[in-house]
Amino acid sequence: MATATIETAQRKWSDYRSETKPTWCPGCGDFGVLAAIHRAFARLNLDPKNVVLVSGIGCSGRLPEFVSTYGLHGVHGRALPIATGIKLANPELTVVAVGGDGDGFAIGGGHVPHAARRNVDITYIVMDNEVYGLTKGQPSPTTPRGESALKSSSSMAKMAPYGEILETPLNILAMVLVYGASFVARGFSGQPKQLEDILVKAIQHKGFSFVQAMSPCPTWFNTYDPWKDGSVPLPDWDTSNRAAAIDLALTEDKFHLGIFYQDHRPSYGELYGTVVEKAQGEKQATIENLLDRFS
Ligand code: SF4
Repeated sequence: MATATIETAQRKWSDYRSETKPTWCPGCGDFGVLAAIHRAFARLNLDPKNVVLVSGIGCSGRLPEFVSTYGLHGVHGRALPIATGIKLANPELTVVAVGGDGDGFAIGGGHVPHAARRNVDITYIVMDNEVYGLTKGQPSPTTPRGESALKSSSSMAKMAPYGEILETPLNILAMVLVYGASFVARGFSGQPKQLEDILVKAIQHKGFSFVQAMSPCPTWFNTYDPWKDGSVPLPDWDTSNRAAAIDLALTEDKFHLGIFYQDHRPSYGELYGTVVEKAQGEKQATIENLLDRFS
């Protein structure tokens, strides 16, 4: 008797496009990130019902609405703990958190090191535009220091009329490398094909994968031209050398695009399973057994 096989058809990027049209400003870099996410999901042929996108607050926080998977537009800076809970509750899901530089590294900054060191099997895409876009152009944790950087945008100059002369920007790539993330990469929304390739590898990675997606905000701080001119692919690169990756992230005078670092240690979920097994192998938690244990 012939055995029937059910083949899953290869999905197209448009299968992941929701009916909600993006509400971003024309030319926003977030369109490039969204396109790369649609195409990466299609290349991996992910079943939309097994994918959850989680966001915080900001222009980037709207992204889950534009993808036809499950999605959760959460509260400010809390995408990572929500994504962690979803993944631990149902390890079969592909969980992707998205957010901006302000959402992730100002109010949400306390969550990043712990997601990274725990090596939870989620992907975190930070759409870095070096400015608070939704709230009309205040300097963010990654705004470059200096007067000239802000002079390119008259709108931004109104929010920071003397430039960003007070605060030094965070180097978020170096930070996540030091935090112990097991996959660290940088892409650019102006190069969506390369960003798509990076996202495919980030989602396939078994552990915490961090992608800094440079995503200009032409409305408040237009960095398209300097980033286009200032981005270069990584040289021939040993992705297992964390110290070299940190050194490059701290000293680069151009934006290197590609995978800076990857290791393959067990994820939090895998280790958590071991804890559950050990606990289940122990004596039942009756009052007598607990008293025995502590007597
Ligand atoms: Fe994009 Fe900036 Fe407009 Fe927000 S304000 S949608 S980041 S261009």
